Amino acid sequence: MHETPHANPADVLERLLEGNRRFVGNARRSRDLPREVRATAGGQAPSVAIVGCIDSRAAGELVLDLGIGDAFNIRLAGNIVDAAALGSLEYACGVVETPLVLVLGHTGCGAVKAACDTAAGVAGPSTLDHLPAVLDPILEAVAIERDATRPADATSGNPAFVDGVARLNVHRTILDLTERSPTLARLVEAGRLGIAGAMYDVSTGRVEVIETSWESSE
Ligand SMILES: [Zn+2]
Repeated sequence: MHETPHANPADVLERLLEGNRRFVGNARRSRDLPREVRATAGGQAPSVAIVGCIDSRAAGELVLDLGIGDAFNIRLAGNIVDAAALGSLEYACGVVETPLVLVLGHTGCGAVKAACDTAAGVAGPSTLDHLPAVLDPILEAVAIERDATRPADATSGNPAFVDGVARLNVHRTILDLTERSPTLARLVEAGRLGIAGAMYDVSTGRVEVIETSWESSE
C-alpha cells in the first residue's frame, strides 16, 4: 500500500481499516514477501508510522494486513514516546514524508495495568530498573480517568477502567507528539501530516479509530 508523498491521511487510514477488516475476516492478502523484499530494496515510501505497544498480540503490520515497506513501526510498552521515538517520527514524517502517524493502543495492556496498580498503591516494589520511564507518562492518564469516572476499583482488576485509561493514554501520546516535537507540529499545521489514535481489541482483533487530527481541528 505505497502512497505518493502527501497522500491524504484520511485515505491512508481507511485503507488501514480495510486491512484490519481482512485480518478479522481471515482474508489477509496472500503475499509474495520475497518479491516485496526485492521491490523495496532500492528505497521505501511507507504511508504510515505506527506508534504501538510491545505487546505480542498488538503487532501493527499483522493486524492491519501490511507488507514489507508499508509501515514505520515504533513499539514501546504502553505506546508511549520518548525522545528517540520522537526523533524517529520526525525522520519518518519530515524526511520520508509519511503522511499519517497512527497511535495504536490496545485493550488489556500490561503497562497500563501496572500504572493503574502503581497509582492505586497496590503494585508492590518493582525490581525493574527502568520501569518508571514507562509508567510515569501513563500515570497522567490514570489520574485523569480516575477523577473523571470515580470507579470503585481503580486497579488492574477492573478491565473497564484499564481500557478507559488506555484510550486516554492514546490521546495523551498524541498530544505529546506535537507538544514535544515542533517538527511534527509544523507538519500538522502545514497539512502535510495527519495523526490518528486507535484501539486494538485483543479479544476480537478489531481496530477502532478513536480520534483524528483532521476531524478534531475542524
Ligand atoms: Zn500494551
